[in-house]
Amino acid sequence: METTQKPIIGIVSPCYNEALVLNETSVQLNAVITDLVARDVISEKSFAVFVDDGSQDQTWTIIEEKAQQLTHIKGLKLAGNVGHQKALLAGLLTFKDEADALISIDADLQDDVRVIEAMVLKFKSGTDVVYGVRKERATDTFFKRNTALLFYNIMKKMKVNIIHNHADYRLCSNRVLKALADFGEVNLFLRGIIPTIGFNKDVVYYDRLERFAGESKYPFRKMAAFAWNGVTSFSNYPLKLVTIIGFAIFFLCLIMTGYALFALYTGNVVPGWLSTVLPMYFLGGVQLFCFGIIGEYIGKIYSEVKQRPRYFIDKRVD
Ligand code: UDP
Ligand code: MG
Repeated sequence: METTQKPIIGIVSPCYNEALVLNETSVQLNAVITDLVARDVISEKSFAVFVDDGSQDQTWTIIEEKAQQLTHIKGLKLAGNVGHQKALLAGLLTFKDEADALISIDADLQDDVRVIEAMVLKFKSGTDVVYGVRKERATDTFFKRNTALLFYNIMKKMKVNIIHNHADYRLCSNRVLKALADFGEVNLFLRGIIPTIGFNKDVVYYDRLERFAGESKYPFRKMAAFAWNGVTSFSNYPLKLVTIIGFAIFFLCLIMTGYALFALYTGNVVPGWLSTVLPMYFLGGVQLFCFGIIGEYIGKIYSEVKQRPRYFIDKRVD
C-alpha cells in the first residue's frame, strides 16, 4: 500500500444505542475524510466504519442509511452486545488489512475529530502508534473526573503499563494491528495491550468534549469492573500483595509471641478473651481476602482456557 504518500486511513467507532448521535458523527467523520482526501493528505479509499455492538435502538438502521448517503461511511453489525473493548477489536481486526492505519474513536464526539489530521501526519512521518491524550477534564462531572483519576492511580500502583489520560482514541499502524491480532485474550484491555506491543509512539493532545447527545454507557459499576479487569489482566501485583500481607502478619505474630513470653515471665498474665478472639477474626478476614484475589485469577484462567470467540459478525455495509 502507498504508505508514504497517500495512506488509506480507516476510522473505527463502536456504537451501542447511539441513535441520537450517529447522524452528527457520521457527517463529521465523513467531512474530515473528504477534506483530507481533497488536500491529498490521505487516499480516497479512506473510510469511517461504525461497529454496531448489538444495539436495541435505531443504530443499525441509521448506519445503513449513512453508508448509502455518504461516500466514506461503512458499517459492521455484530451479532450481539459484547462491550466496548470487544466491539472495537472486532472493527480493528476486520478492517486491518483494508487500511494502512486505523484510528479508534468514540461515537459520541467526545474525542475531538480535529486532531485526526495531526494523528495522520505523525503516522506519515513514521510513527506506528499515536495516542490521543486529553488535556483536561473540565467537561466531565466531578464524579467522573475523580473516579477516572482514581482509575489511573490504581493502575499505576498495580504496575499496569498505561498512558495517563489516554482512553481509546488512537491511531495504530497496520503492523501494530497485525501484532494485536496475535493477542488471543478474552479479557480485553486494549489500553494495556497496545503499549505492550511497542514500536515507535507519539501523542497528540486534545480537549475532551461533552457527549454530543444521549447518556454515558459507562456507569460507575462498569468503570470499576473495567479497572479491575485492567489490573488483573496485566499485573500479578495483587498476588504479590497477598504474599506481602502474609509476611507482614507473620512478622507481627512474632512480635506478639515475644510479648506474650515476656508477660508470662513477669507474671503479668490477664486471661484475655480479646487477645484470643480478635486475631482469629483478623486472620480469618485476611485469609478470605487473599483467597478472593487468588480466586479472581483462577476465574480469569477459566475464561481464557475456554478460548471462546470474542465476537460474531452479523453483516457489513460498504
Ligand atoms: N460502547 C459500545 N458497547 C458497549 C458500551 C459502549 O460499543 O457495551 C461504545 C459507545 O457507543 C461509545 C463508546 O463505547 O461510542 C464509549 O462509551 P461512552 O461514551 O458511553 O463512555 P464514556 O465516554 O462515558 O466513558
Ligand atoms: Mg463517551
